[in-house]
Amino acid sequence: MKNLTLLSLLILLVACNKPVPAGMREIAVIPKPQTVSFYQGDFVLSHAATLKFDQSDIKIKETSDQFMEVVKIGQLPDKGRGTIEFKIDNQADIKPSGYLLTVRLNKITITAKEPAGLFYGVQSLRQLIPTDGSGKIPNLDMADFPAFGWRGLMLDCSRTFLPKEYVLKYIDRLAAIKMNVLHLHLTDDQGWRIEIKKYPALTQICSKFDPQYPGEVNGFYTQEDIREIVAYAAKNFITVVPEIEMPGHSTEIFAAYPQFSCTGKKSVVFPFFKGPDVTEDILCAGNDSVFTFMEDVLSEVITLFPSEYIHIGGDEAPKAAWKKCPECQDRIKKEGLKDEAELQSYFIRRMEKFINSKGRKLIGWDEILEGGLAENAAVMSWRGIQGGIQAAGQGHNVVMSPTSHCYFDYSYETTSTEKVYSYNPVPRELAGDKSKYILGAQANMWTHIARTEAAIDAQVFPRLYALAEVLWTNPASRNYPDLEKRISKLTRNENH
Ligand SMILES: [Zn+2]
Repeated sequence: MKNLTLLSLLILLVACNKPVPAGMREIAVIPKPQTVSFYQGDFVLSHAATLKFDQSDIKIKETSDQFMEVVKIGQLPDKGRGTIEFKIDNQADIKPSGYLLTVRLNKITITAKEPAGLFYGVQSLRQLIPTDGSGKIPNLDMADFPAFGWRGLMLDCSRTFLPKEYVLKYIDRLAAIKMNVLHLHLTDDQGWRIEIKKYPALTQICSKFDPQYPGEVNGFYTQEDIREIVAYAAKNFITVVPEIEMPGHSTEIFAAYPQFSCTGKKSVVFPFFKGPDVTEDILCAGNDSVFTFMEDVLSEVITLFPSEYIHIGGDEAPKAAWKKCPECQDRIKKEGLKDEAELQSYFIRRMEKFINSKGRKLIGWDEILEGGLAENAAVMSWRGIQGGIQAAGQGHNVVMSPTSHCYFDYSYETTSTEKVYSYNPVPRELAGDKSKYILGAQANMWTHIARTEAAIDAQVFPRLYALAEVLWTNPASRNYPDLEKRISKLTRNENH
């Protein structure tokens, strides 16, 4: 009898380690893992699952707590077998932010070199949990790592104010698909959305639409709100990159502080996007108090956001007012600048010096290339890919977000999910050694057309699933019909 038991155990073990074809076992993980091998048998995840991990590491503890919350509330059997182990192994042969996930009859192990990798392994494991209540997770080996380090989404919370709770929900959604940057467009002509203690009128006045536009929703984030968003994002291994627009897209400031504009005229905050280069006013580049103001603002912003990069906008700066402004023309003369394009470059370089002095780096839209790029600046290439190619060619870091594939305010007729999925962030034109400057890509969700949460969600999903996979998965193993299948399975599970 004893021998028989041993024999059957042996047979079982052999069977469990025999790879089976992928088609026999269906999983829906997004983004698609780099490699998966399946084996016969399942681990049964239950409410009684026990977790083993290094309790002394707070980041691992947070990830473990998050997973145990899923186990607690999930539709799972009360009893199961086996243990789950989360392991950090500095010596393991795993790529940065990668993980190894092993599922066997009696044990699930996630191994990573750093907490971020462990977190991503847990996100995959969460997507493996079935919704039929069986708790059965197929035996497998998953070896996974991201293709790009910048996997982002920009939410425009200026044109339409997005409540804190909505932003927190987006952090969950980004984390589930292993995205790691949330870029918040905090200021624009349509409203200043972040509390700055030194200039209270920015939120008291500049966050509010003019009374001639009734029915508009006003709002801003207090510094306490921002701290909460940033901390919640950090728990989910997401960096929040703040954007404070300058020198254009800044007329909302003049509703309270007209002295910082070229004309000195008081403006009104209007709720619609007029289009590029049509606002009459701009921050005065000839006035030193404008720089003091922006440095004060950025000082508070930098204290709130620990991100390596601080976004200063820099796009679509209308030059008409600068051309007529005596102070701006004086600045051009004194600094030996050629024209208003170089004045824009002067503005950005001066801000860069300040940001660098605080130990941070500047990133801006690709217009900051015009008139010469600031020394250490990174570029977000949006008007196509040429800005990205040019900046990377000069040895500057680049985040790709071309309108052709990454503008999620565009309709699905213009930019289908399949088109997003076909994107490759490294342009073909970029020579091999320069491709390292492409940090990754991000989707941009401007909110001048879609202005309700439901409308914004419909613009972002399912396209964001496609972009998440573009940024994570090896291009050779991408397959659109397969992605569609996984999207429908996952969204069914999550009741999106
Ligand atoms: Zn001026």
